[in-house]
Amino acid sequence: MALEYYARAIVGLRIAANKLTEKKLTRACSCAVQYDEKNPPNFCSNCGGSFMGESLCHINGYDGRSIGDFPVIPSDGYFYIGFFIDAKSVDNAFKVLPGSFKKDIYDTVMRYAPDLWDEEKFGLYAILEHEYCSQHC
Ligand SMILES: [Zn+2]
Repeated sequence: MALEYYARAIVGLRIAANKLTEKKLTRACSCAVQYDEKNPPNFCSNCGGSFMGESLCHINGYDGRSIGDFPVIPSDGYFYIGFFIDAKSVDNAFKVLPGSFKKDIYDTVMRYAPDLWDEEKFGLYAILEHEYCSQHC
């Protein structure tokens, strides 16, 4: 087993992990019980447990993998939306971005999750990544 390091370059928006989740009031049990959504009961008439509870959910517009057509990239303790390249060898160390890359990212964020946009968090990030190789490398 070996630890391999490589360079990752990201052009995009850096997002703190806690900005991708929010507490939402959701059903606490999975019993199929009819109820008034505007005035849910405190307890479930079937199992007797709490009827509603707070859950940590993905924010609207984020499905756990992407926002719009852009993948959300976990890296370096943050999440990023944009373009990225992992340089594990000189052969794949180049990538050409479309001329409209910033507008594309901005438009996507503003359409699906506008609260995430922060002009000061948009930029080029160079990150030293690592991965464990389980085979002899
Ligand atoms: Zn129940």
